[in-house]
Amino acid sequence: MERTLSIVKPDGVKKNLIGEVIGRFEKAGLRIVALRMLKMTKEEAKGFYIVHKDKPFYDSLTNFMSEGPIVVMVVEGDGAISKVREIMGATNPKEATPGTIRADFASDIERNIVHGSDSPESASYEIGYFFPSIDLVSTTS
Ligand code: UDP
Ligand code: MG
Repeated sequence: MERTLSIVKPDGVKKNLIGEVIGRFEKAGLRIVALRMLKMTKEEAKGFYIVHKDKPFYDSLTNFMSEGPIVVMVVEGDGAISKVREIMGATNPKEATPGTIRADFASDIERNIVHGSDSPESASYEIGYFFPSIDLVSTTS
């Protein structure tokens, strides 16, 4: 059983896609084991995306991610990290497979609706960024 952190980004919340994103995860057999809505400050967005601090898009990305409310969730299931990324589609919606969330709804490479951790290490960092372990529901008892 694997866990990953997913976010409905500010553009996804504005476009009323919270249920759409969660519904796609649930239809794939994944389970939501923690869920919150919040608005990040610029500093919090910078901390979340610290791995991208030297990228040319870091400033714009962290402005975008702090512009409005987001929904953060922990998603659990066999191969959850790669399953969520498959359901999301490629970062650039122009390259995303038809039927993925980003192909269906993203405006551009930055405003791409949804986030998903890319490895067990980043999942661990990102889950801990938003959720104390006491808030992670057990699905085995
Ligand atoms: N991003 C961007 N320009 C780029 C690459 C990425 O604005 O050229 C944004 C986009 O919102 C992306 C996020 O930065 O989702 C994190 O980038 P990453 O390469 O980790 O893509 P992801 O893992 O989200 O597919
Ligand atoms: Mg990434």
